[in-house]
Amino acid sequence: MKTFEVKAYGTESIEAPLKQLNIPRREATPKDVEIDILYCGVCHSDLHTARNDWGGTVYPAVPGHEIIGRVTKVGNEVSKFKVGDLAGVGCIVDSCRECSSCEHDLEQYCIPGFTGTYNGKDKHLGTQTFGGYSEKVVVDEHFVLRIPENLDLAATAPLLCAGVTTWSPLKHWKVGKGSNVAVVGLGGLGHMAIKLAKALGANVTLFSRSPEKEKDALELGADQVVISTDETHMSKAAGKFDLIIDTVPYIHDVNHYIPTLTISGTLVLVGYLGKLDPMLNTVPMILGRKSVAGSVIGGIAETQEMLDFCGKHNITSEIELINMQDINEAYERMLKSDVRYRFVIDMASLKA
Ligand code: NAP
Ligand code: ZN
Ligand code: ZN
Repeated sequence: MKTFEVKAYGTESIEAPLKQLNIPRREATPKDVEIDILYCGVCHSDLHTARNDWGGTVYPAVPGHEIIGRVTKVGNEVSKFKVGDLAGVGCIVDSCRECSSCEHDLEQYCIPGFTGTYNGKDKHLGTQTFGGYSEKVVVDEHFVLRIPENLDLAATAPLLCAGVTTWSPLKHWKVGKGSNVAVVGLGGLGHMAIKLAKALGANVTLFSRSPEKEKDALELGADQVVISTDETHMSKAAGKFDLIIDTVPYIHDVNHYIPTLTISGTLVLVGYLGKLDPMLNTVPMILGRKSVAGSVIGGIAETQEMLDFCGKHNITSEIELINMQDINEAYERMLKSDVRYRFVIDMASLKA
């Protein structure tokens, strides 16, 4: 298969900082869209992957799955895009296209497994996939999203992961007018969860460890903030929430939040991946028919639905625009929750 080289930023081992390197991209096949990347959001999953937090990272690793760009080439069977169009790529660049999940627009739950935008198995080249910290990407049109023309492009990039990851559980658990939703953690995912839940008509509460974020949370649309380390404050929230979206990236005590669910309420984990410690106490779950669930990103149709909704309601992310060369510092700041509320890379800095 014919390829061409592009500049990218990636890391060659767990400890190594990210640096400039070259990666191959395939020449567009008949179904492919070639995209010149303008902006790429920085997700906490990028950091988990670069540092092999989940195991299984193949090096060199080039993260980035919140991609916005312009189409520079299309294969001759492409019908959704033409050269010059805006285009987005999120966390999925391929799936089997025929299992029951794929048939139901749930590519994120593809039974043989979806191909991640980075650190996936590239079916064309046989290597690992390389993400959006790069000049260009080539993706089958099925996995490419249309971007509303009215939104700020840099601030739209985070919708491709942080947006859809919080949108999907909000829709699955049928959040709407009158729902009571809580969000744990005010970071990239958390701030999108607040904006989207609010726009869907919910009453929204933020659980945060960080009292200094309270003002921002209210400005973003939260109706109240509960400081999760304050026991009296927590006990006042008992029995309130139909849905809690927990975005905390690291191990934490989930039991702490269960008493704040209503009868039949659900706490959905979207952040931390792994065994819980302490273990779940089933007593409040059984006695209140409460659930603890998980959810991963969203399907392609659902991502388009979310983007169209954001276009209509003028919803984008709160961002800090950085140069590609600042990525290592951005990771350190993200670890300290020192980002309001998503870093986005201006890819012009890589091309210069
Ligand atoms: P982020 O911007 O770093 O935000 C995480 C927030 O969680 C922080 O702002 C902080 O909020 C809180 N937090 C951080 N460390 C904590 C700790 N040790 N204990 C308690 N709270 C803590 O991260 P993100 O990009 O939103 O991603 C969040 C997680 O979701 C990551 O693990 C990421 O890999 C995962 N993710 C999952 C999916 C999926 O499909 N399920 C998709 C994308 C990302 P406060 O200061 O307000 O407490
Ligand atoms: Zn992500
Ligand atoms: Zn499938």
